[in-house]
Amino acid sequence: MAQHFLLSAASRTTNLRAIYKAGEEAAYKTFCEMRWPETDGEAVCPCCGFDEAYKITTRRKFKCKACHQQFSVKSGTIFASRKMDFVDLLAAICIIVNASKGVSMVQLSRNLDCQYKTAFVLAHKLREAMAQEVQTGEVLEGHVEIDGAYFGGHIRPENAKADRKDRRLKEHQTGKRRVVIAMRECEGRTLPFVRKSEADGVALANENVSRMATMSADEASHWDELHMGYHVDRVNHSEIYSDHGKHTNWVESYFSRLRRMVQGQHHHVSPQYLYQYANHAGWLEDNRRTDNGTLARIVVSNAMGAPVSRNWKGYWQRAA
Ligand SMILES: [Zn+2]
Repeated sequence: MAQHFLLSAASRTTNLRAIYKAGEEAAYKTFCEMRWPETDGEAVCPCCGFDEAYKITTRRKFKCKACHQQFSVKSGTIFASRKMDFVDLLAAICIIVNASKGVSMVQLSRNLDCQYKTAFVLAHKLREAMAQEVQTGEVLEGHVEIDGAYFGGHIRPENAKADRKDRRLKEHQTGKRRVVIAMRECEGRTLPFVRKSEADGVALANENVSRMATMSADEASHWDELHMGYHVDRVNHSEIYSDHGKHTNWVESYFSRLRRMVQGQHHHVSPQYLYQYANHAGWLEDNRRTDNGTLARIVVSNAMGAPVSRNWKGYWQRAA
């Protein structure tokens, strides 16, 4: 049997030792090169686009020679106003991309010796950087599988049987239960969404799957509507999981990863942020055969090209 990719040396192209050994100056240079690849890391003004700037080396800032605006390599990116050292930011990215089922934010804060809140916001911002590759707006093509899986809203049964409620009834539910609906191309992209009902998946398929595609779905009756727009292979999971090549195993393997991520690492995710974890798992699934150095570079360059995060900027200040 062939060696699993993650066991091969080819999967390991970066590590914490190398990042810390190279040091803060090298990490800073990496960020500059990722931010301004077209000038090999020479500063370009985010205001007017002029590519000559004075260097204020002591504060790692630049002043544009044309419009005199001061800026840094983080200005206008999701790292704006992050006070962490560049070497710690790279280390955080390394830890996160190495975790194939995600990493809990308490664990990240212990590894980096930073506050939980810092780790929480940083990890969510990095998920946004990953999501840019997942939510591209392009339609899925070829053979596309669709399925849904419910997360959250668990009600702990009472100790004594007499006190237990019927957890299937709506009045006993928490309202926090959500379904992740995922569409996945065979050997291709994964595209997840968070909704309240799995039946919403039909509308999502109409918006995000090419009319030329073939689809696969399980026996759930709401998928019947898919037949109006697509050729659909159905597989009845109560009888068989793979029927002569008809299956939804690609999308199931995505849910397997997301389930392990939520149960094994985060334990609790709020319905509000479930989409972030869904995108994270989708990104990991699509990049499961990419070496970790490339993964880190993808995250940094997406993060550097990304506009300032509106969702996470001032998150804790706002909540306070
Ligand atoms: Zn300028």
